Amino acid sequence: MKVVVLAKYVPEPTATWAFEADHTLARESVEGRLSELDEYAVEQAVRLKEAGAADEVVVLTVGPAKAVDALRKALAMGADRAVHVSDEAIAGSDALGTSRVLAAAADKEGFDLVLTGMASTDAEMSVMPSMVAARLGLPQATFAGALSVEGGTATISRDLDTATTEVTVTLPAVISLTDQTDEARYPAFKAIMMAKKKPVETRSLADLGIAAGDVGLEAAGTSVLSIAPAPQRQAGTIITDEGDAATQLADFLAARGFLR
Ligand SMILES: Cc1cc2nc3c(=O)[nH]c(=O)nc-3n(C[C@H](O)[C@H](O)[C@H](O)COP(=O)(O)OP(=O)(O)OC[C@H]3O[C@@H](n4cnc5c(N)ncnc54)[C@H](O)[C@@H]3O)c2cc1C
Repeated sequence: MKVVVLAKYVPEPTATWAFEADHTLARESVEGRLSELDEYAVEQAVRLKEAGAADEVVVLTVGPAKAVDALRKALAMGADRAVHVSDEAIAGSDALGTSRVLAAAADKEGFDLVLTGMASTDAEMSVMPSMVAARLGLPQATFAGALSVEGGTATISRDLDTATTEVTVTLPAVISLTDQTDEARYPAFKAIMMAKKKPVETRSLADLGIAAGDVGLEAAGTSVLSIAPAPQRQAGTIITDEGDAATQLADFLAARGFLR
């Protein structure tokens, strides 16, 4: 079984993010990393290989030149090979454009199972797994807290607000994994050094048979109208108990509609 993991290169959450005049993120000037949530997908793929359920793990990213850093991290975690789709014309692509490129690259690579994170840690849309599955015409199972693969099917447990459900899909399929799957490993120094020798193939839009005009900012179906810093957190209310704390607390909750 061949597993393709979709892994995104994102800005460091602690870095100062800058934006271009067209409202796209200035990715080249911000320090980046493999999206933390995608590490869970890489981990589960590597575990499938270690358990003998998978023969090969290929990690795939669409991103700028520096996105290779994310691929190297995934290789150090145990992925076998990496594919980097990089093309000037992809810059500014929205989710529709990105899913088009990811689906074409996965299709060209060939796979039995595509694993993804539950969301990127930058745009956080959680749409890519469904979009890629729809473009490939494959079953999808999203927000998996646990994954098992057996006899041409994959079964996930999906945690909802009030219940956990089990979903089984026939392979090939696309599955997104949450941070409830087991902790992702921290690669050892030796694994990091070995990852430098693992193959990373670079593909262009032409390699994937996608016309430059079909992706990028001009072709985007969505647009960012404005960007504003998140509002500062307001200081909380501290109730000092002078005999009437319970009443004050009840009044506080009632005023906000939590009590009637
Ligand atoms: C007008 C506009 C312009 C934009 N311009 C750019 C731009 O220039 N460059 C840019 O990078 N983004 C750009 N974006 C954001 C970009 O569209 C999203 O980052 C992208 O569609 C993925 O959505 P997401 O990050 O919310 O992923 P989610 O849907 O939250 O991701 C879920 C999972 O999909 C996989 N995944 C997502 N994206 C990738 C990827 N690129 N490679 C591999 N796996 C992936 C990961 O496994 C991830 O955990 C733009 C968005 C808009 C609306």
